[in-house]
Amino acid sequence: MSVIAERAARRRTFAIISHPDAGKTTLTEKLLLFGGAIQLAGTVKGRKADRHATSDWMALEQQRGISITTSVMQFPYNDCIVNLLDTPGHEDFSEDTYRTLTAVDSALMVIDAAKGVEARTIKLMEVCRLRDTPIVTFVNKLDREGRPPLDLLDEVEKVLGLQCTPITWPLGMGRDFKGVYHLLEDRFYLYSGDKHRVSEIETIDGLSAPGLEERFGALYRQLRDEIELLQMAGAEFELDEYRAARLTPVFFGSAINNFGVRELLNGFTAWAPPPQFRHARTPDGERDVQPDEDKFTGFVFKIQANMDPKHRDRVAFLRVCSGVYRKGMDIHSVRLDGPVRVSNALVFMAADREAVEEAYPGDIIGLHNHGTISIGDSFSEGETLGFTGIPNFAPELFRRVILKDPLKAKQLNKGLDQLSEEGATQVYRPIINNDIILGAVGVLQFDVVQYRLRDEYKVESVFEPVQVHTARWVESDDERKFREFRDKNDARLAHDHYGQLVYLASSAVNLNMTRERFPDVRFVETREHG
Ligand code: GDP
Repeated sequence: MSVIAERAARRRTFAIISHPDAGKTTLTEKLLLFGGAIQLAGTVKGRKADRHATSDWMALEQQRGISITTSVMQFPYNDCIVNLLDTPGHEDFSEDTYRTLTAVDSALMVIDAAKGVEARTIKLMEVCRLRDTPIVTFVNKLDREGRPPLDLLDEVEKVLGLQCTPITWPLGMGRDFKGVYHLLEDRFYLYSGDKHRVSEIETIDGLSAPGLEERFGALYRQLRDEIELLQMAGAEFELDEYRAARLTPVFFGSAINNFGVRELLNGFTAWAPPPQFRHARTPDGERDVQPDEDKFTGFVFKIQANMDPKHRDRVAFLRVCSGVYRKGMDIHSVRLDGPVRVSNALVFMAADREAVEEAYPGDIIGLHNHGTISIGDSFSEGETLGFTGIPNFAPELFRRVILKDPLKAKQLNKGLDQLSEEGATQVYRPIINNDIILGAVGVLQFDVVQYRLRDEYKVESVFEPVQVHTARWVESDDERKFREFRDKNDARLAHDHYGQLVYLASSAVNLNMTRERFPDVRFVETREHG
């Protein structure tokens, strides 16, 4: 095996998906604790001090020192190098989250035992399903009264269409929570309720070990009945089924009490897929880029601004897809068809960022960006290829930007261009006037853009409602018909940041009518970057 193949095989790159409040932050913190990346749980917590801030972004802004550690966290565990990619926590539908999910090989789903499958989890699962991302499930908060475990599994199967295979099973719940039984190890892990105990946990081997019935009475008998039921249902763990995203192994525990997290992490690192091949377009068609290829490739899935309070910098997050990135190496931007100098790429450890010496497939490196890197950009050692599947979403909400001080037009345009490169908003410039229209998929995005225009670009702006219902990228193979379409609809056409033509429909009816009138024009809802 080559060094690259060997290193790649040890990477586990994943994100946590959950509904707000299920315990994602708490679990992240505990994973880092078990991974030895932080000494004292609490590092991650800080950023949520004001969870009701208009957005996580503004909360992040107030806590810049910490924000760097929350986008990507790398830690070693067992034989693996684990890369945990954070997704923004706010409830708004967020493009950032979706793009982050394109950069992982698997996901960890956290469910609150009292609440079961919630709305945002359902939405995120839809995204995971697009790429058949394998899911490991953690049912959290067993120290609180929750719903019967069998009900929860049933709900995951029905609502999310994932077959569940419990790996651990709870013994009691809430005030009666006594621990979990590990079905594969045939071992009980007993719960003491002492969150400071990380290493010494009492274990008892064997489902029928003597003394269990005396000690736990009805709780134990119930567990035995349930285990019997599960075994009759035949929900055995099959690695292939999990990797194909049809089955999810399920762990129970209490993140805040450090309970069940180690078993989760053991199972996760053992089963979660290493970096997979990635699909890319090439001048000759397309090809699958394998992680163990010699040459470096990767793509940018996220751009974050102002991570360093001293320098107004923007960092582009690149996922390595193949080969190896070495410090000092020049990488080739496929979009610009030229080299991009990356003097000091960053690797992300939980505690701080440090210069990266080498990065392998599955790793995330941070590139200082001075405006030459956009979301979705592919990089290589010279090969022309574009990774596919990094979506740009047709926005659902629109505002017209009104500048308070007309002399600031230049700063406004600069700010909006940079913010759209980051994917913070989409900018449309109508072809017949000088309006600027912003599009977003979640309403919080507008608040963030307005705040950042003021804070970073010193531009005061007002956003007002505009008669736009939806936007579609338009294209056609028939040049003459396309010209006719453009001439007849110039009042509703605009260019996006990349110069692509967009139809801004005033209503659903308007969109349908225009579609019918111009059958040779395609109205595209999601576009890939690049
Ligand atoms: P997030 O919004 O998903 O990141 O959730 P947090 O990690 O911030 O947790 C939400 C709330 O649930 C916080 O008050 C946590 O202290 C609490 N919490 C997290 N894990 C547990 C748990 O295992 N048991 C109990 N009782 N509370 C928990």
